[in-house]
Amino acid sequence: MGIKQKQVYRGFEQGPIRPPSEANSLLIRVTRNCPWNRCTFCSVYKRQKFSLRPVEHVIADIDAIHQVVALILQELQESGRLTAERVNQLAEQFTGEAQGIYFTAVNWLVRGEGSVFLQDANSLIIKPHDLIAILDHLKDRFPWITRITSYARSHTIDRITDDELQQVAASGLTRIHIGMETGSDTVLAQVDKGVTKAQHISAGRKVKQAGIELSEYVMPGLGGVDLSQQHALETADALNQIDADFVRLRTLTMPPGMELYKEDLFKKCTDLQVAREIRTMVDALDGISSTLKSDHFNNLLQDVEGTLPDDKTSMLAVLDEFLELPPQQQTLYQVGRRMGYFQSLDDLQSPVQRDHVESICQRLGITGENADRIIEERVRQSL
Ligand code: SF4
Repeated sequence: MGIKQKQVYRGFEQGPIRPPSEANSLLIRVTRNCPWNRCTFCSVYKRQKFSLRPVEHVIADIDAIHQVVALILQELQESGRLTAERVNQLAEQFTGEAQGIYFTAVNWLVRGEGSVFLQDANSLIIKPHDLIAILDHLKDRFPWITRITSYARSHTIDRITDDELQQVAASGLTRIHIGMETGSDTVLAQVDKGVTKAQHISAGRKVKQAGIELSEYVMPGLGGVDLSQQHALETADALNQIDADFVRLRTLTMPPGMELYKEDLFKKCTDLQVAREIRTMVDALDGISSTLKSDHFNNLLQDVEGTLPDDKTSMLAVLDEFLELPPQQQTLYQVGRRMGYFQSLDDLQSPVQRDHVESICQRLGITGENADRIIEERVRQSL
């Protein structure tokens, strides 16, 4: 048996991603990368080795932020306000990594949400008593924290006991984001998600039962053309059995080189097909009070948002408005949205924006037939 080498503290660390809803949160890195790392649609941690960070290293990161936060709060108490000029003056006493920590702390305080996100892909994989030690230390250092959240895999949650999850909740973990992606076992197997629909349902229920808010990420388009309907209906069925606090849409985009692309059998859905798929899913959501969010930039229709059951009709209305547009208007919206000129369907009513997008379509020769291909090529070029 080899001797485990003690990890050396390499200083304050932050990982590459966090959910869009955690844009204002302080990011505390508990583990590095993803312990599964096999999903064929995901490029985030590919070729990166997973590792746990020693608890004392995470504690050291929290203390480093705390030291700077204390300095800023003291300054605020003494002078009553913190001008941009004073922020820059204070920054001069730090160099290198310490200055990075200083600005991380300033941004966190200025944004004012007081929330913390534990990185990377699956923080719940660490031993519950280690997670509890980290949560306790965070609350000790920053008693005013409003929420602490994390990503977790259903497979991992399913293996934690109810009692342990309740202790984690009692120590302050307020929300877990799970990448459900789909409720279809066929699609889950096809993309090598490493989890079944039954495990998703059991894990989701467990999180809620522990008193932790649950946010389920769903990936429209993941079943491709052939499994689109099955993906929509099975996902709605899983969501109906879980009743998550939040359901978040994150439409499939695939950077070049993704394994899913290499599977010639995978036929990617057009934007129009994805909109139909989402409509099928939303229509099948029943008996739950989840809030549906469309807060990811790669969603075509970001207005498909609301709380069930009251807002179901208005969410379907947004989808129907797009699906019932004349084909040329659908293409215009698709191009405007994908190229960053439109935010919502209302922008089609703005003559200035519409003329601009029409001129782009003419210049690039975009039609209903080639719009998805040209948009995808441009997105790939920009990656
Ligand atoms: S579990 Fe999440 S982070 Fe890991 S490979 Fe799958 S999608 Fe990517």
